[in-house]
Amino acid sequence: MARVPARPSEALPAAAVPPAGLNILSNRLVRRLFLSRYLPLTLQVITILLFIWVVYDGLFGIQAVGDNFATLGVWFLFFWPVVLLSTILLGKAWCGVCPVGVFTGLANRFTLGRSFPKALRNGVLSFLFFVVVVWMMRPVLGISESPSATAWFFVAWTVVAVVLGYVYSSRSFCQYVCPLVGPLSILARIAPLELRAKTSGGVNPACLKCRGKECMNGNEKVGACPVDEYPAMMEGNQRCIFCLKCLKSCPTKTVLQIRLRWPFRELFRAWRPSGVEAWSVVAMVSVFLWHMALGHGDRVPPVFQNWAHSIGSLGSESSDHSGLQYVLILSIGLLVISGALAVAAYASAKIAQLSFRRSFVNFSFAYVALVAFRAVGYMVGDILTKSGDLSNYATAVIGMYVYQPSAVVDGMFKPFLQGTGYHPYGALLTVPLLAALPLTWFIAYKTARHMTSGPAKALAAATPHFLLSAGIVVLYEWAYLVGYRVIGQ
Ligand code: SF4
Ligand code: SF4
Repeated sequence: MARVPARPSEALPAAAVPPAGLNILSNRLVRRLFLSRYLPLTLQVITILLFIWVVYDGLFGIQAVGDNFATLGVWFLFFWPVVLLSTILLGKAWCGVCPVGVFTGLANRFTLGRSFPKALRNGVLSFLFFVVVVWMMRPVLGISESPSATAWFFVAWTVVAVVLGYVYSSRSFCQYVCPLVGPLSILARIAPLELRAKTSGGVNPACLKCRGKECMNGNEKVGACPVDEYPAMMEGNQRCIFCLKCLKSCPTKTVLQIRLRWPFRELFRAWRPSGVEAWSVVAMVSVFLWHMALGHGDRVPPVFQNWAHSIGSLGSESSDHSGLQYVLILSIGLLVISGALAVAAYASAKIAQLSFRRSFVNFSFAYVALVAFRAVGYMVGDILTKSGDLSNYATAVIGMYVYQPSAVVDGMFKPFLQGTGYHPYGALLTVPLLAALPLTWFIAYKTARHMTSGPAKALAAATPHFLLSAGIVVLYEWAYLVGYRVIGQ
């Protein structure tokens, strides 16, 4: 049965319509490419083949992290360059070609058609899954250190997705359960690309007259929007997976556009901001900033080591409490970051006379800039220090055996400040965050500006977030710079 969208006048206030950017579909070649039946099909076939290779190599290949495609492909190639970069640049396009998503979509063809339980649509499953996966990856289960465990992990992940795809409609696993839902939804708002209907404020007249709404419902040749969006009125990137179905099914072929826009802009004009996204921001700040700063090596403060030791000694004879220490620091991080954000959001809500929920969700988006810059710095460091392994693996597969050291650039770990351990890799972990701080403040201010009546009030409402984001950056930089002996000698 055709789905009926909300009435345009109710769902799209004119103020929410951002200025139109450059439509890349106006280029004939790009348009042909995007409307081609081979896109995204070709990419889906490639990712499925890679997925099969990951599982095969993980189960039957050499069980060495740097020589197996399961660990190299998943934890190095997949998570950083592919997923992170594609999301920052192209929104949730990864979800359109993700092999698990494709299997879920196939299972959906035979679905029993049940609706996913309403009580679980708030993203709590995805959030918990994200935290558990982070725990499982490193010391707790060490999945990222074992090719066979990595393969089994993704087999289990796929089985869960297929079963849910069979029982529930509309790619429910991808919308409510996958641990990447929240992080990808919020990072997709950064992207300089958006799929939107052509409009000059309000709904396009062609869409008002359109009876079939094929962009959402599909037609006899093209399927319905897999994430239940109504593209004619969509004003946010958080759900669209750029599957391109709506472009192909819309009878006008001109109303829907793919436009270039200012990156980060959607964070302070967020359309339908959700609690899932806000909690994902909390989780990402806890993992990428708090835990990376205080949870590894020499940087772990003695107080956390002592707590882990005391708690661990109660239940076991072993002196190795690294797994417990990891979980403990991350859990404390989740509590501290969510508590600090709640306090800042409460103060902003009081100043701007907003509801606490609105304040918490909307202002949390400002911290995405910190996470994104930190993650990109880490990704570049990873590429420069590890891609030799991938090239060794690739040349070995084709029988050429051309050896490259892991680090493709010399001196990445050679200190460049005398008497310290601060090296180019360390700079990639610390400098980007400093660059992100002014952007975080700008987003916090613009967010406040959209929710308050004047610049002075907006400045006051954003101030708690200026302070909190600066505090997070100082804590992070301090931990790293002490660790590198740049300060505190
Ligand atoms: S985008 Fe196309 S299919 Fe969708 S409502 Fe508008 S005219 Fe109809
Ligand atoms: S059908 Fe259109 S709006 Fe829906 S996910 Fe695909 S590209 Fe996005």
